[in-house]
Amino acid sequence: MKCLIIDRVDKFIQEEFSKHMDVDVHILPSQEELKEMIGDYDVLIMRVDPKITKDILDAAKKLKFLGVCSVGVNHIDMEAAKANGIQVVNAPGMNANAVAELTISKMLDISRNTMAANYDVKINHEWDKYKFIGRELRGRTVGIMGFGRIGRRVGELARAFKMNVIAYDPYLKPEDFEKEHAKGVSTEELLKNADYITIHVPLTPETKDLVSAKSIPYMKDDAVVINMSRGGIVNEKDIYEALVAGKIGGYCTDVMEEEIKTAGLSDDYEFTSPLFECDNFIVSPHLGAQSRDAAYDIAVFIWGKAKEAFGWQ
Ligand code: NAD
Repeated sequence: MKCLIIDRVDKFIQEEFSKHMDVDVHILPSQEELKEMIGDYDVLIMRVDPKITKDILDAAKKLKFLGVCSVGVNHIDMEAAKANGIQVVNAPGMNANAVAELTISKMLDISRNTMAANYDVKINHEWDKYKFIGRELRGRTVGIMGFGRIGRRVGELARAFKMNVIAYDPYLKPEDFEKEHAKGVSTEELLKNADYITIHVPLTPETKDLVSAKSIPYMKDDAVVINMSRGGIVNEKDIYEALVAGKIGGYCTDVMEEEIKTAGLSDDYEFTSPLFECDNFIVSPHLGAQSRDAAYDIAVFIWGKAKEAFGWQ
């Protein structure tokens, strides 16, 4: 039997599969390359690239187990997988803590000006503590849009900072918030009362432009918006205008409307945004789930499912 690994996953996966079968690693093949090679393999381990179409699955004559070391399976033709008898296993929620911790990190960074201060010391060679007087999280209100796995963990961490936790999630019952010591509120109430508005909803037609010129006017002038979810949920043009006009306090994000998958920020790939010029904008390149701990937990989970599927001890 043979296993093919096509993305950077924790080495635990390779080590364990190697005890039962030959393992090949070919990082991020194109769809065409994958279609060419998949016929030899019983197991495929991947994250979200490339898109797994019916064509690829039809070529996967021996494939029995497809382990997705990520949350979603939107990139896989699930009907074709089912029709071909391929078991698809993903790892929902296993990166929730990693994303939640980065959310808190952003709240702290923007509130205590650590990014700007770091730049000031290392690049400007200044040592001026009076330039960077910040505010604490304690006693402030965090408004969580989307109270699922990540949103709830953010709430839990925020409570340790003695923050008030309010949340909006139309798919939950009032007791779902109470159980988590949060207050379920309407969108409008959340926007008006939150010092930090943090977004943890999926990107859907309903959540596209959730933060835009329509919602920003409800916010406090010093409110900070944090988008840890997907590009497109915050309208970048509108939030840029709000930042420049001083209508909100800051915007922190881990995702952007235009994200680069493989090209990287190089001279020949034009990836820029007017937001990059704003001091009260901080950004990371979709790092939410990128912790060694999350990768290891996911690998252990996927391996456990493979063991069950193949009846290994
Ligand atoms: P989840 O499914 O556990 O929670 C999502 C919550 O959003 C659910 O409770 C749902 O009811 C709620 N929701 C849906 N539509 C809504 C709306 N219109 N308004 C308010 N709430 C709404 O998912 P999760 O694991 O918490 O992940 C949330 C999102 O975070 C994912 O969809 C993904 O986009 C993003 N994410 C980002 C990273 C990263 O690296 N930055 C990593 C993982 C997930």
